[in-house]
Amino acid sequence: MKTSSSMSGHGSALRLPQVVLLATGGTIAGYAADAGRTATYQAGALNIETLLAAVPGLTDVARMRSEQVAQIDSKDMTCALWLTLAERVNAVLAEPDVDGVVITHGTDTLEETAYFLHLTVKSNKPVVMTAAMRPATALSADGPLNLLNAVRVAAHPEAAGQGVLVVVNHQIHCARDVVKTSTYSVQAFQSPEIGVLGWVQDEWVELQRRALRRHTVQSEFDVAGRHALPMVEVLSSYANASTVPVEALVSAGVRGLVVAGTGNGSLYGPLQQALADAARQGVRVVRASRTGAGHVMRNGAAADDTLGFVSAGNLQPYKARVLAMLALAHDMPTDRWQSLFEVY
Ligand code: ASP
Repeated sequence: MKTSSSMSGHGSALRLPQVVLLATGGTIAGYAADAGRTATYQAGALNIETLLAAVPGLTDVARMRSEQVAQIDSKDMTCALWLTLAERVNAVLAEPDVDGVVITHGTDTLEETAYFLHLTVKSNKPVVMTAAMRPATALSADGPLNLLNAVRVAAHPEAAGQGVLVVVNHQIHCARDVVKTSTYSVQAFQSPEIGVLGWVQDEWVELQRRALRRHTVQSEFDVAGRHALPMVEVLSSYANASTVPVEALVSAGVRGLVVAGTGNGSLYGPLQQALADAARQGVRVVRASRTGAGHVMRNGAAADDTLGFVSAGNLQPYKARVLAMLALAHDMPTDRWQSLFEVY
């Protein structure tokens, strides 16, 4: 669909959509003393007012309100902050006058936060996350246009009911599938195999696909009132992989282990044995793949039924961890675990 921005939002020409911006820091709020610097800078240094001031035309797209929820480098994201963020998004979207939310975030853990919110936000209103690969002070900073595009998408009626969307470098991704795939490129985000949901350029917002897996209002995960999540860690398999991390984590009381296996989630023999021992002791073991794309088939490269494992399907290991933490937080019975990885 092509619509001009003045007509594309929820409101008429008399009432622009109301979009609330929740800022958390990241490179989009990054500062370096020298405009030529794109690798050494302080992430999360600038506040939301400074970011908004760099985006002319924003108030022609939406009525904006903003809130600084955090000011961090997203490498330091915590489960506690995820819970706070989910609570703020849910509270803001429950306001009748609010049409959508935009969240600014660092790129490093963007995909994890996006999937966490995808499963825990309880609203059909648009939730759009954005970020930047270059600090706000850099030549050709990508943040201001990403922010404008994120607001354009959040103000668009077609963005409703799609779960959490990630808008970066003109592309619109589904939170479930998007991953950061480059350390420096402004085209860092991809949704491997599945592809983007749509794109945004100037006043054109176009969504060409819908996410079919469960999210937001169809999700059974509700984190209201929670202050912590169960311990789930990620390991990987490789030539001659040690079993020491598994044993140490089990002694530390880990509740779930996601293993990024080789290929189709295959595991180095001794590591597989250590994980089977952990599963026998009640630790939930999820087999994902370190390849970055493709499915891990149940009972494919490992005998999940016998070993007590769950296969992650095509969910990336760090997102499988998010789903595992939520499943543990909700005391999901063992026999439901495999189906969770098939519907979310
Ligand atoms: N380290 C930064 C962060 O995740 C990187 C970025 O935002 O691009 O906050």
